[in-house]
Amino acid sequence: MTARTATDTGLRPKHVPQRTCVGCGSVTAKRALIRIVRGPEGEVRPDATGKAPGRGTYIHANRSCWESGLKKKRLEHSLKVTLTPASREALSVYAGTLPEETDA
Ligand SMILES: [Zn+2]
Repeated sequence: MTARTATDTGLRPKHVPQRTCVGCGSVTAKRALIRIVRGPEGEVRPDATGKAPGRGTYIHANRSCWESGLKKKRLEHSLKVTLTPASREALSVYAGTLPEETDA
């Protein structure tokens, strides 16, 4: 009879950076989220590179998270900013390009 254990295989779990989605509030791997940044002039826009300077927040790439983030003002709270009509419009347009729901 052999008793083998699966421990010590050298497979350590990697540390994955996690962020909270500002839409649904769930914690998800950062790379599965879109960063939204508040620029130097107070404009709020999606940050495709994830590296734009300014205060950022993270959100799932689906429309329902964007809608709740926008409607419930969680996005504004998180970025400590009041969305201008132009920023709000731009974000709504962007949200419209996203899939309705993801299983992330
Ligand atoms: Zn979400």
